[in-house]
Amino acid sequence: MKRWLSIILMLALSMCFVGCVFEADADIDSASDEASSENASSTVSDTTSSDEPAVDPATCTHEYEEKVTRKPRVLDVGEKTFTCKFCKTSYTEEIAKTDTIKILAVGNSLTSNATQYLWQIITSAGVPKENVVIGRLFLPGCSIAWHWSNIEDFKEDYEYSKNTNGSWLTRENFSVQAALEDEEWDYIIVQETIASVHNTGAYAKLSNLVDYLKTAKPEAELAWQLIWTYQAETVSQWCSFKTPAETKEHYGQIIGQYLTQVKTKSQIEHLIPAGTAVQNLRSSYIGDTITTDGIHVNEKHGMYITALTWYAALAGGELEAVTWLPSKYPELADDLPVIRQSVKDAMKQPFAVTQQAK
Ligand SMILES: [Zn+2]
Repeated sequence: MKRWLSIILMLALSMCFVGCVFEADADIDSASDEASSENASSTVSDTTSSDEPAVDPATCTHEYEEKVTRKPRVLDVGEKTFTCKFCKTSYTEEIAKTDTIKILAVGNSLTSNATQYLWQIITSAGVPKENVVIGRLFLPGCSIAWHWSNIEDFKEDYEYSKNTNGSWLTRENFSVQAALEDEEWDYIIVQETIASVHNTGAYAKLSNLVDYLKTAKPEAELAWQLIWTYQAETVSQWCSFKTPAETKEHYGQIIGQYLTQVKTKSQIEHLIPAGTAVQNLRSSYIGDTITTDGIHVNEKHGMYITALTWYAALAGGELEAVTWLPSKYPELADDLPVIRQSVKDAMKQPFAVTQQAK
């Protein structure tokens, strides 16, 4: 009798397990639609629920519940949806654009690469200069686990750079705590290092880190930079030779780790698909040529496309509105169409490469 009971119990448990696995897969599948669904906002509709409304909307004494269905950004309005709790009739209302964009990146050299031109790019799209602040904490090769241990120990090991007027002001011996207190940040960005994405254990402290940041700055929205993969067939002090197939596999690991380790953290509200934008551009006539040492993106195409992706994800403006070019590289104007298209495609499809014009 006891044996039968334990068999039934085991069967019930295994069915539950299958159910859990299925749900997790469904969540990953829906992830790729996330970016595109953001723009597909509904307008006024009289009957929205798939269930038959219990109350006739014509006679209902509506009582609306309000929900922010799209957060506003500095160059993009948001949206609130009001839904009647009795008959499910709903309508939407616009939320005005935000006034400021103040971004703090808690990162490493890849974060510094991607933010180098960000102030110029955002202001050139029409955001008043006094409303744009970019800050970044830099420690070479600093991983999620390392940031967390620095926070726990109040380590003042970071170089902190800030851009409020087009130039970077850099100070040494900063802690994460001091940088958080420096401004009323709108966005805080975190990311992994290029070398640790193959290691699931590298993300073990991500919950601690994002919980801490969100508690310290509850008004700030957290974002994740999807980093890029190595340049194939290069060797430097930072990177060993990798075949195109190996870099493709590494890019797949970056996406896989995001979907399983990062997307599951509800505190992280935004994705900056810089790594996919880079991969898209590499598929174009520009080729796999945009790093200086196999890892760090160059000052021309690399820093430009990564900053433009941050702009698209955080400021929410049109890519065509950005007219600024680095003064050293006026010829970059010729490549703007493919750079913009690469970013646009990465925003639409953040987890796969979109082939660009050769
Ligand atoms: Zn109603």
